[in-house]
Amino acid sequence: MFVVRKIRLGRLPELDPLAREAGRIYSEAVIRFWRVVRRQDVWLLEKDLLRMLTNGSPKVLHSQSAQAAIQMFSAALRTWRVRRKADPAARPPKQRKKFCKVLWKGQALRLVDGCLRLPLKQGLRPLLLPWRFDLPKQVEIGWTGREYELRATYEVPVAEKEDGLIASADLGEVHPVVIGTDDFHLIINGRLLRAKRRYREKIKAKFSERIDRKKRGGVKRKKLVAAKQRKLRRIDDQIRDIEQKVTEAAITALHRRGARTLVIGDVRDLRVGYDCGKVQNQRMHQAPMGRIRNYLSYKAERRGWTVEEPQEESYTSQECPNCAHRHRPAGRRFKCPSCGFEAQRDVVGQVNILRKYRGEFGLPAPHVIGGMASPAGLRWKPHLRCSPAKPTEEAGRSA
Ligand SMILES: [Zn+2]
Repeated sequence: MFVVRKIRLGRLPELDPLAREAGRIYSEAVIRFWRVVRRQDVWLLEKDLLRMLTNGSPKVLHSQSAQAAIQMFSAALRTWRVRRKADPAARPPKQRKKFCKVLWKGQALRLVDGCLRLPLKQGLRPLLLPWRFDLPKQVEIGWTGREYELRATYEVPVAEKEDGLIASADLGEVHPVVIGTDDFHLIINGRLLRAKRRYREKIKAKFSERIDRKKRGGVKRKKLVAAKQRKLRRIDDQIRDIEQKVTEAAITALHRRGARTLVIGDVRDLRVGYDCGKVQNQRMHQAPMGRIRNYLSYKAERRGWTVEEPQEESYTSQECPNCAHRHRPAGRRFKCPSCGFEAQRDVVGQVNILRKYRGEFGLPAPHVIGGMASPAGLRWKPHLRCSPAKPTEEAGRSA
């Protein structure tokens, strides 16, 4: 499994010539390829295109990075050839690029004195970036639209699959996630996330209003737009940090309790045709369920869990897990009018997703369930981990 670490580099001007040369090489591949198609009706192979790189080219890039620019074009070509089968309107990669991302592959990368060494053409001084992480498998430097960004790819080991308990997750708006097994339930507290998201909207509104009052094309307007972007980016970073850390903590807790399979309720269609007024709509659309679902799945997979297809979740908030009677619960408590079973409403949803997955939904429980274990809460703390501990650290901690 691969994970990517992104690092913002700012507008380093020394990277411009690299991106420009990668763009030039990419464009040359585009021109050469389509010229041969036009004149000889032949499709050049990647190795034919790579032959373009002879003495004197590249001028600044490492030979591998130059090759990577051409490989990027052939990859775009392949993608298009696959896509056009389904979509005749798919456009072929004919666009030249003034700048292009620059790629370094494993063998070329090295760690030297706390720096990541990115080699350039022989004879030129390599780039050195302060680096406090492991050696990545691949590094690319691209432009985000306002600055350079480094993306380091790592291959992380995936744990061996084993048998264990099944956990289910119910994604929602009040609580971003309720996750658990039959007798252990974890509610991820959503108050902080909600506050951050609301604050984000506030900033957007406040800035937009001020920006609208400034003249188009003016310096003041530009400055305000930049300030708005900066603020929003900061909040987005905070939101992602919270989401990463709480999902990691949730999966870790369940892993320790023996869960090895994850079933997530399917909320993908929930937002389609959903109109509950301005306020509720905004709350709903800001709920980042897709991202949280992704985080949960990949974190579980990384530990060797089986992640099942999303489980359709209609009526899961309404059915009594004890007697299968359905009613619409009012408030946060679920109280069955038929048998008196009582539990927290979100936990009922989570348990019902589990029951649905096992095919027990719609049937009364074989034994009377007295109640459910009261859920544990999970709150974000800044020092929570965002990736699993290495086995050595884990051993150190438990010792
Ligand atoms: Zn009941």
